[in-house]
Amino acid sequence: MDLNLQNIIAYHPAREQDEVFALKNVSFQVKAGEHIAIIGPSGSGKTTLLQIIAAAMKPASGVVSLGKINPWSISGGALRQLRQRLFYAPQIPPLPPRQRVVTSLSASRLGEMGFGKSILNLIYPQYSQDAFNTLSLFDLSEKLWSRVDRLSGGERQRVGLAKILMSRANLWLVDEPLSALDPKRSRQAIQMLIAEANKRGVTLIVTLHQVDVATKEFPRVIGLHAGKLEFDLPSADITKHILQNLYAQSEHEITQLEAHVFSAE
Ligand code: ADP
Ligand code: MG
Repeated sequence: MDLNLQNIIAYHPAREQDEVFALKNVSFQVKAGEHIAIIGPSGSGKTTLLQIIAAAMKPASGVVSLGKINPWSISGGALRQLRQRLFYAPQIPPLPPRQRVVTSLSASRLGEMGFGKSILNLIYPQYSQDAFNTLSLFDLSEKLWSRVDRLSGGERQRVGLAKILMSRANLWLVDEPLSALDPKRSRQAIQMLIAEANKRGVTLIVTLHQVDVATKEFPRVIGLHAGKLEFDLPSADITKHILQNLYAQSEHEITQLEAHVFSAE
């Protein structure tokens, strides 16, 4: 699915009074099948931007189009259909405590199940073979029937990634998928996500804290700072100087950046 964002301004309802914008005049286009990483310090607007693209949040002004459709100018039914074509994976996957992993994974296909089948899914999980195969990609197949609240943070995050692969959406919006994973698992998980997106021709947009992963694994990187688009560049053109500027006011993050990138030089 291709995307077009024009002059997006967004603020969270709680901040409406003080007019603190989470996004200011953000514009960019994405072609179907592209892979993009979004980086920037905490609070720079990465999550808000994903929510805007996911049509989960309405911009205060500006226009979003998803595959030429403006989600805010269509009927409720058409909007539900449009949302089925995208998968938004929040940073902390919403996994109901007593649910089994298999049920959680098959829930990625609720949109296509219809009412009867979705109720049946709670008792007799649908697509369990697909769920098993998808979990094996993340070394988690033995957890198919485990309860999600018995998993470690890293395992839950990998279940969150498996949920993305279970969906049949053609736009994946993934918010900081690697925060609970060690570097080796991070690399494996992101490469798996990218390989599957490639295989299916899915448009992939991922926000990342790991600058090295963003520049090494993604051909195009967008940098956000204080709600503004600082740069939108092929990763080959991103220099140490550009990254230092992006994180300039964030001491903690510049330390992380040094550990990740600059030591590798
Ligand atoms: P990031 O994902 O880059 O850390 P966010 O998109 O979460 O950034 O936040 C962008 C800005 O919007 C920040 O100033 C943040 O404080 C504010 N913000 C985010 N979520 C909310 C919310 N639910 N209510 C009020 N303000 C919010
Ligand atoms: Mg965020």
